[in-house]
Amino acid sequence: MVRVIMLSPPGAGKGTHSKWLTQQTGAAHISAGDLLRAEVARGSDLGRQVASYTDRGDLVPDELIFRILAPAVVAAARDTGGYVLDGFPRTMPQALRAAQFGADLALTSNAVIYLTAPEEELVSRLLDRAQRDGRADDTLSVVRHRLAVFAKETAPLVDYYRDRGILLELSTDRPEAEVQADLLGQLQTRGLLLPAAGDSRLNHAEPAVAASPVTFDPPRDDQPGEHILT
Ligand code: ADP
Repeated sequence: MVRVIMLSPPGAGKGTHSKWLTQQTGAAHISAGDLLRAEVARGSDLGRQVASYTDRGDLVPDELIFRILAPAVVAAARDTGGYVLDGFPRTMPQALRAAQFGADLALTSNAVIYLTAPEEELVSRLLDRAQRDGRADDTLSVVRHRLAVFAKETAPLVDYYRDRGILLELSTDRPEAEVQADLLGQLQTRGLLLPAAGDSRLNHAEPAVAASPVTFDPPRDDQPGEHILT
């Protein structure tokens, strides 16, 4: 089963591409942002603490992140055998702690998907989304701050995972269907996903959600490059 980390600056398409990937694979979609927003909506003390960071576009402290995310990852892996981690880890300390956690629970990730787009494109997508969804942190100044936080805190993870040989890098500055086809192709090339019989997605860019089911090879914990969380 696929166990992947989606790593990207705000607006590059983590959420969008996580959704179809989970629909296709049956792995659980674990969105750090969605879990945090749900906690805020619940109005708990924890949610109020979370909002004091997210509203400004600052990262939520690791302690709170692990308290909220760890149960979701464990439940997802138990229920589906896989996961698409959307928005976590986002700092080197989170990545190192997740590594330990993953190794302890035999939940190591098998790929990290790094989505990119030019900065002005990211800003414009997020401002468009603000009009649609009204997210509190999608104002221009908070968006700029989130991008700066990404550059400082999250960008170092790109080299960390690249050095481990499990980074897949894709530009999302092109039609969504093309990104889907490219990503499926890269996962298949790495043996993380087996094409279904008659699968022609790689030859023409159609939305993957409309395509035939995809099958997976069994867990490959014995493979080099699997142990990115160590
Ligand atoms: P985006 O990628 O567009 O910023 P997310 O929904 O992934 O959106 O995250 C929204 C906010 O939630 C972030 O700006 C940050 O404040 C907080 N957040 C999400 N994931 C993490 C994380 N792993 N560590 C700390 N804070 C996080």
